[in-house]
Amino acid sequence: MTETTQKELLSELTIKEFEDSIHEGKIRGYQCRNCGLKRIDIMEFCPNCHQAELEKVEFSDKGSVLTYTIQFVAPEQYMNEVPYAWAIIQLDDGPKVTGWIPFVSKPSDLPIGQRVAFKKSYLPGIVFEKI
Ligand SMILES: [Zn+2]
Repeated sequence: MTETTQKELLSELTIKEFEDSIHEGKIRGYQCRNCGLKRIDIMEFCPNCHQAELEKVEFSDKGSVLTYTIQFVAPEQYMNEVPYAWAIIQLDDGPKVTGWIPFVSKPSDLPIGQRVAFKKSYLPGIVFEKI
């Protein structure tokens, strides 16, 4: 848990709220008060312990690359960004998130375990950059 982690009483984290927070440069999600599970997915109860004691938290903006695939053909909104890595990032304080990393065209551009940071962006999705 970092000093920047903010806790609020539970109110529903909507998809719009999540997207708005991404545009503000924050990765938000839930932490289960009962078992501590952290997820960024929208959920009403904990998939681990099935309790509804979830609180909204703000996660670290830094993490490490767990795995990825390089995209050379992309959906329309990413068309100007190819090639890029579509990656699963292990955030430093818990959850895994799916995001993308521009300027990756071959595996040597992005070693597994590469340190990355969330980058505030006008582009869709959660953008990370190498640090
Ligand atoms: Zn739980």
